[in-house]
Amino acid sequence: MIQLYAPLNFLGVLYREIRQALTDMERMFRLLSEQREIDDAPGAPPLRLEGAPAVRFERVSFAYEPARPILHQVDFEMAPGTTTAVVGASGAGKSTLARLLFRFYEVGAGRIAIDGQDIRSVTQASLRAAIGIVPQDTVLFNDTIRYNIGYGRPGVGEDEIVAAAKAARLHDFVQALPRGYDTMVGERGLKLSGGEKQRVAIARALLKDPPILVLDEATSALDSRNEQAIQGALRVAAANRTTLVVAHRLSTIADAAQILVMADGRIVERGTHVQLLRAGGEYARLWALQQRDAEPGAQREAPAPA
Ligand code: ADP
Ligand code: MG
Repeated sequence: MIQLYAPLNFLGVLYREIRQALTDMERMFRLLSEQREIDDAPGAPPLRLEGAPAVRFERVSFAYEPARPILHQVDFEMAPGTTTAVVGASGAGKSTLARLLFRFYEVGAGRIAIDGQDIRSVTQASLRAAIGIVPQDTVLFNDTIRYNIGYGRPGVGEDEIVAAAKAARLHDFVQALPRGYDTMVGERGLKLSGGEKQRVAIARALLKDPPILVLDEATSALDSRNEQAIQGALRVAAANRTTLVVAHRLSTIADAAQILVMADGRIVERGTHVQLLRAGGEYARLWALQQRDAEPGAQREAPAPA
């Protein structure tokens, strides 16, 4: 029995490894082909920035397929070094804003400008170098935590890795692991929670040190300790950068410079947390719902509606 079982078990492991390798490859090819879809304008100069820039979406409309418009004349400005939060139901178009800013897709109408430069007029390499993205679902490589943080900055020093991990509120967690930064993660290693994976991605983004940061918060419910850690990490990451946060937990963005509420590809409300609570609209309704559902320990102080 054991003799029969062992090879079968081995085959199972082999199968999982091959499947994982294929998934990794698939992801890579998808990414590469997405990046090739759009060409640089002939003679395009690099994006020129001095510190955190102003980012403008000017009456941006967009459709993935011509028959199904997704964004309708979305118009907003992010002041240099401030945080703009986007909230709204699933499918409202929040992540699409992030994809357009990164120029994974071309706007259908309107334009996106960074410090007055249309993102279509500059090289994609310079655009993407200026933007750090923490995606909704972080995919980790089947490698060490150190590799996963340092990926994108080959040869980066241990001290910089640790500094990024500390800023991302990840260091204490890693320190407590028997193998520390050498711990293998991913499918074949230690399974990290959604919040932990996101903090790895934040550390990676901090190491990149981009003037523009895009954070697409994980949808999965985080426990309150994880949420506090993420909030702390976000605050550090967003400092002195022009930041766009797609938020599911409203408590994480109560101090954003502006909050955009999206529904069906339109901005239906905008303002600060206090202004939106006073307005008593969709945001106030969502806030009340989330306050009611929050675990008692997870509630945080929020400016009260006057
Ligand atoms: P959100 O992030 O607010 O949940 P998204 O921006 O991801 O929403 O998606 C907005 C709409 O666009 C959804 O209806 C979604 O189904 C659609 N969509 C997203 N990505 C694609 C795609 N690659 N092709 C076609 N439709 C898409
Ligand atoms: Mg999304």
